[in-house]
Amino acid sequence: MTAVETPGAPRIVGGELVSTNPVTGREVGRFPVAGPGEVAAAVRAAERAAAWWAGLGFGGRRERLLRWRARIARRITELAELERAEGGKPVVDAVVEILAAVEHIDWTARHARRVLGPRRVRGRLTLAEHAAHLAYEPYGVVGVIGPWNYPVLTPIGSIASALAAGNAVVHKPSEYTPAVGRWLVESFAEVVPEEPVLQAVYGLGETGAALCRSGVGKLAFTGSTATGRRVMAACAESLTPVLIEAGGKDAMIVDADADLDAAAEACVWGALTNAGQTCIGIERVYAVAPVYDAFVGKVVERAARLTVGAEGEIGPITMPAQIEVIRRHIDDALASGGRAVLGGPAAVRPPFVHPTVLVDVPEESAAVREETFGPTLTIAKVADAEEAVVRANAGPYGLGGSVFGRRRAMAIARRLRTGAAAVNSTLTFIGMGSLPFGGVGDSGFGRIHGPDGLREFAHAKAITRRRAPSPLPAMTFNRGPRDTARLVKIAKLRYGRAPR
Ligand code: NDP
Repeated sequence: MTAVETPGAPRIVGGELVSTNPVTGREVGRFPVAGPGEVAAAVRAAERAAAWWAGLGFGGRRERLLRWRARIARRITELAELERAEGGKPVVDAVVEILAAVEHIDWTARHARRVLGPRRVRGRLTLAEHAAHLAYEPYGVVGVIGPWNYPVLTPIGSIASALAAGNAVVHKPSEYTPAVGRWLVESFAEVVPEEPVLQAVYGLGETGAALCRSGVGKLAFTGSTATGRRVMAACAESLTPVLIEAGGKDAMIVDADADLDAAAEACVWGALTNAGQTCIGIERVYAVAPVYDAFVGKVVERAARLTVGAEGEIGPITMPAQIEVIRRHIDDALASGGRAVLGGPAAVRPPFVHPTVLVDVPEESAAVREETFGPTLTIAKVADAEEAVVRANAGPYGLGGSVFGRRRAMAIARRLRTGAAAVNSTLTFIGMGSLPFGGVGDSGFGRIHGPDGLREFAHAKAITRRRAPSPLPAMTFNRGPRDTARLVKIAKLRYGRAPR
């Protein structure tokens, strides 16, 4: 995206990025724009810091990361207020977000040694004279590019694992949330003052592109699918490995035996929290016919009671350009035969959008297929859970999802073509420190959080260690025809029988 002269949109003044509040247009801060030279300098400094940080070992890093966690947790209200000032996010939404972020710092700090530390693994009979050792080593410097919608949780998902694994990090926050990015870096420097282990570089998309080409050991990107493709193409030039956490169009399935009150309540929150600007936000619901009418009624009743405004439960749309996307999806849904049972075109009152619930919307319409990223929701009636699964899996995205029901709920959740699912709740998998998070299809690849997230920021290093002479001379030129015959015999004896 590029900065435009719209209230709330960032702009460049005198080589500085000016961040503003999306409701009032009030300035929040100014940040020096980093070009390729400044980004390269940050990465070089990070390389030196990485050597020092890796040398602290798992114990030293754990202690410092837990102190960082404690500092963020103690100042949670201050950070939440900053998120509100810069992105317009309601303070309570920011508090929930930051709580999840500190959980991930806590989990990764405590489990990094167990997941990544050196260990012996079982060897194999054919190489019984060698012991097998495994360790996971850091890449050195990891670049982390983040979005504006969860400017604490999404970068920390990568940053915490990368740091716990022994990497230094250069973070490029979204142009909409540089002040939050700076807060994270400064709070980390307060507990790790020795070296610039965590740095931020500020600017527009060009700064992120420079980070992709800066020679980092790995690049972790969270943002839209379209930008993810550009990031991957830039990283391909230097074979820099990438992690892509991209967009979503998450579905919720409501089965016949669901607790409808709980389902409606969770649906309204999962769809409308953070004004719907959530990668794993519920954007589509498939409710089975016997409960459809009752479910729609409960959702509309609950969503209609939400307050909208700068101090409301539904805050502003942070990115002015997104308002037109939301408007287009609502208009298109209605033009193609859908009905608004709550909200509608008049709900779009920039910078706010009031809750909108759409029904009877054709599956091919933009409101069902594309990421809306606003406080809107489509609800469709399906014959049974089978049809719901087929429709939920029909789109190109595959990030998260939700299932409400009893008897079949787990089986349905397993069949969703997504990286995560919540049964009888929405979005909960994002806050579970022990579980991985990431998508399939257009939602990206690679994982943050949990053991898989830690391994994402380290490469496996395999070592074999001889502990006895080799009974069979296989890996040497000092062998003769009789040795070859013995190798053939062993191959047939050990691997030649097919299972019956
Ligand atoms: P964007 O893709 O527009 O931007 C993401 C980041 O990439 C920003 O920091 C942006 O900088 C930067 N960037 C832009 N162009 C380039 C480029 N050519 N090279 C490198 N970096 C670049 O996404 P948004 O910030 O609008 O975030 C919303 C999107 O993020 C939604 O699609 C949402 O679903 C997704 N998301 C995914 C999550 C997940 O975990 N899967 C979590 C949260 C959000 P700048 O802002 O300066 O343009």
